[in-house]
Amino acid sequence: MSAHGIGAAALGPGGGGGTTEQPAGVREEPAGVPELPAGAPGPLAGAAERVIVRTERLCLLPAPPFGEAARAAVVADWWRADGLAEVRIDPTGNVWGLARRGVGPAVLVAAHLDTVFGPDVEHGARRHDGRLVGPGVGDDTIAVAALAELPRLLEAELVGAGQARPVWVLATVGEEGVGNLAGITAALADPPVPVGAVIAVEGNYLGRVTVTGVGSVRFAVTVTGPGGHAWERSATPSAVHAAAGMVSRLAALAAPQAAEGAGVAGRIAVNVGRISGGEAINIRAASCRFEVDLRADTAAGLAWLEREARLVIEELVIEEQGAELAAEAREIGRRPAGGIPAEHPLASAAFAALARRGLAARTHAASTDANAAYAAGIPAITIGITHGEREHTIDEWIDLAQVADGLAALADTAAQAAALADTAAPAAALADIAAQAARTDRSKWDA
Ligand SMILES: [Zn+2]
Repeated sequence: MSAHGIGAAALGPGGGGGTTEQPAGVREEPAGVPELPAGAPGPLAGAAERVIVRTERLCLLPAPPFGEAARAAVVADWWRADGLAEVRIDPTGNVWGLARRGVGPAVLVAAHLDTVFGPDVEHGARRHDGRLVGPGVGDDTIAVAALAELPRLLEAELVGAGQARPVWVLATVGEEGVGNLAGITAALADPPVPVGAVIAVEGNYLGRVTVTGVGSVRFAVTVTGPGGHAWERSATPSAVHAAAGMVSRLAALAAPQAAEGAGVAGRIAVNVGRISGGEAINIRAASCRFEVDLRADTAAGLAWLEREARLVIEELVIEEQGAELAAEAREIGRRPAGGIPAEHPLASAAFAALARRGLAARTHAASTDANAAYAAGIPAITIGITHGEREHTIDEWIDLAQVADGLAALADTAAQAAALADTAAPAAALADIAAQAARTDRSKWDA
């Protein structure tokens, strides 16, 4: 493997920053010597500026889950103009492109087109104090904009690497919220070529190497009863009382001793984020509704949690049989859990790429497009482009100064993955990684 980082020495000074759109140009045949202009503006600075300009353009277009078509069309047009091969929008709405030809199972680099914002939110991004500010700038617009730089950057990374795997880029739909990873799931179920590794890109998390996919199952639970006078019919079952009891029993499932007692490793979390119901203070409630979010970082943990939660909901009906109460749970979300060991070659590639640029790195657990790869048995990581904060708010921002480094680290990681003889992990390694728990920062969950 000779895929090494793009250094300042190899590419010349990184100062300046052109604003012109230049086609990235995928080469049909790997070229021997890439064009690497020596003087300013350095290729990385030029690439970073192109990515930022495209991020600004995409940010003007609302793209809630299942409403990404406008962004997808723009991205497909860009990629065709850039010279990427095999550009197409699949039936689910994902945009595919071939960044570099090769041999063997492909490395798929994916970023999601959708954001959490609908057309009711004012769209657009503005530069301010070295930052780009606006809805969705980092999550995940800059990552989508970055994908088209891969052909050119990979060409430089893979000089002399010999035979490498093909690298495809994919702009996915349906990653956020109700999307439930619909785009990447469909993409991996029917890819144009066999996929050997997935690199998901989340724009605002440079330095994080996510190797654990936090999975979730979400239910909307409705409890209904006959209702009645609070005094005259005080023995009538109340939907609010029953739901409250259910909520406290669901919450208790997250207590460490509950999972440990069942022999379940890893971390789990339970949240009832919304509850509503009842008719008046003096009425035995006829209905109550709540939404529960169940999460775990292992497939086994999530399966246990879902089973226990269903029991809690079903038991109420059994206990109250004949008492005219009913409970119904409707599934409103599902994301698979999974992961790879931090020692997996794909994760090691990302750590090496970050280290070559002097960037601090750590493992992380999150819910991203990589979750769908774990469910499909494909090794995957999630990495960033730059640092950003306030994601999922309208004043989300990203740091522009780090974009060049982030692009270089992304290309370096993808090049290493493409140069790896075999990125596929043994099946056992793809199973639940309980040992990962101690090393992994689980302070956040991204979607
Ligand atoms: Zn995201």
